[in-house]
Amino acid sequence: TAESSFVGGWIADWAAKVLEQEPALTDLDRRAGDGDFGTNMVAALDQLDISAIRDTYSTATIFDAVSQAYLGHAGGTSGALFGIWFRHFFRVAAESADSELDLGAIATAARAGLDNITSLGGARVGDKTMVDAIVPAVESLEQSVNSGADRDAALASAAAAAAAGAESTETMLANRGRASYVGEAARGVVDPGALLIAWFFASAVGH
Ligand code: ADP
Ligand code: MG
Ligand code: MG
Repeated sequence: TAESSFVGGWIADWAAKVLEQEPALTDLDRRAGDGDFGTNMVAALDQLDISAIRDTYSTATIFDAVSQAYLGHAGGTSGALFGIWFRHFFRVAAESADSELDLGAIATAARAGLDNITSLGGARVGDKTMVDAIVPAVESLEQSVNSGADRDAALASAAAAAAAGAESTETMLANRGRASYVGEAARGVVDPGALLIAWFFASAVGH
């Protein structure tokens, strides 16, 4: 169906990328954190039937499955926050009359996810967290909605913004999470949560 060709391909590609990059993610959290980030991602994403996500599930079911996998199976701060992020995509998809997720729905879900993550975790841009990738992506999506850009062009812009945001974390000291315990040692290390968000938007392009 049309819906699985977009969100199914998007999320299946993203999950495969995260699973494949587990060692690199673990290394980042080992250098600036407690080393469990990659393990936490695998604990969640190994719960998923990737081929059903790609080919069978509805858009709402895909986001529900990913959210539940994070909330139920990933430890750590990121498990709860990513579970919440995907929960908003599930809610917006379930409320949508359209079985496809249009640009407005993506922007709405991402904004709601960001607001929930910042109200729970208290992080702001510059604290070296996933928020450094999410904020520029959400702002880019909202600009694209206002300018009437098409979905694929908007996702490409959001992906570039998220990637730049993730890259910006490399030179930061951390003010939140376990990376804040290591002080100067966090400099030179990209935040793995921000990287995961950059991959989330990058994987949406071209489906
Ligand atoms: P833990 O720190 O509990 O071991 P993880 O290693 O699973 O958790 O996740 C660490 C990631 O969580 C970081 O890379 C960062 O992006 C994100 N993070 C940590 N604290 C916060 C926060 N307060 N707000 C937003 N994101 C956060
Ligand atoms: Mg950790
Ligand atoms: Mg931990």
